[in-house]
Amino acid sequence: MPILKGTEEPHDPVCFKEDGSRLDGRALDEIRSFSCEVGVIKNAQGSALVRHGGNQIYAAVYGPREVHPRHMAKPDRGILRVYYRMCTFSVHERKSPAPNRRENEISKVIREALEPVLFLEAYPDSQIEIYIEVVAADGGTRCASTTAASLALADAGIPMKSLVVGVAAGKAQDKVILDLGDKEDKVGQADVPAVVVMKDKTISLLQFDGEMTAEEMELGFKYILKGAEDIYQKQLEALKSKYMQISDEVKIENVEVAKHTSAVPETKEASSEAVPATPKAPVDVPAEKQGESSEKVPETPVSEASAPETPAPEAPKQGDDN
Ligand code: ADP
Repeated sequence: MPILKGTEEPHDPVCFKEDGSRLDGRALDEIRSFSCEVGVIKNAQGSALVRHGGNQIYAAVYGPREVHPRHMAKPDRGILRVYYRMCTFSVHERKSPAPNRRENEISKVIREALEPVLFLEAYPDSQIEIYIEVVAADGGTRCASTTAASLALADAGIPMKSLVVGVAAGKAQDKVILDLGDKEDKVGQADVPAVVVMKDKTISLLQFDGEMTAEEMELGFKYILKGAEDIYQKQLEALKSKYMQISDEVKIENVEVAKHTSAVPETKEASSEAVPATPKAPVDVPAEKQGESSEKVPETPVSEASAPETPAPEAPKQGDDN
């Protein structure tokens, strides 16, 4: 099956149009379309979905929590476990569902790219687990997976020195390019996946497959830093938008609570249910005032607006039951 729809052969080395632009129309130093969101998996402590080109990747974080099997635990620090998996339906050909060497290697390099930004020494005897599922693969999944894992860790509230971003540079038809797509990855001359620690622009993962001169490599790094910065801004937006949403929800909740506490007569059922252990008010006190007395009187005087015409009965004091 052809890698790209159309007339290209799977190993057709052509990665540029006649006008010199890339097959998908990108400039040499341009990343593929990128979007991300956090908090996408309800049962995870933190999660993220990254769409990078045709890649669609979920990351879910759990922990710090107990290590199983126990003998794997380290008494002086926590351990990070990363499980990268590519779904059987993620590529054109059917991929075997059994975990393979490539997945194990990518799990290891992602772990090593993330460890430097975590404070694992703060979690002795514990583990943080990151599960990564590549739902659709389009080249550069290790980089996009690292970007997703970093976001999921931040979403889980796990302290980090910095977010990290994965992006690759490479070479195809003697041109240095940023963020290789699936075809460029497969038929290009070189592929340099890298993970950038955004705080200080250090590199926590660097792999190199192919041939590039020192000058080409230098240009490749410039492209990587530029691409990483573009992706980083999207990561920040995704995190901010989640916390804006939470803060809006908290504001609405506070308004509801304020309404509830200032309009006690409306809540007579709730309030009388909430204090079942208090002695009943005298029989001549209307039912709604029983609610008022048990809830409002001990705290503050009854407000003008809700003040009953007759004084509220004495609040039952603790110990009155006895
Ligand atoms: P990366 O995804 O990090 O670039 P590779 O260079 O190993 O890692 O893979 C390049 C691309 O090849 C993947 O993104 C995916 O689209 C495709 N690919 C990887 N493994 C398989 C497989 N078993 N079957 C089909 N396509 C695969």
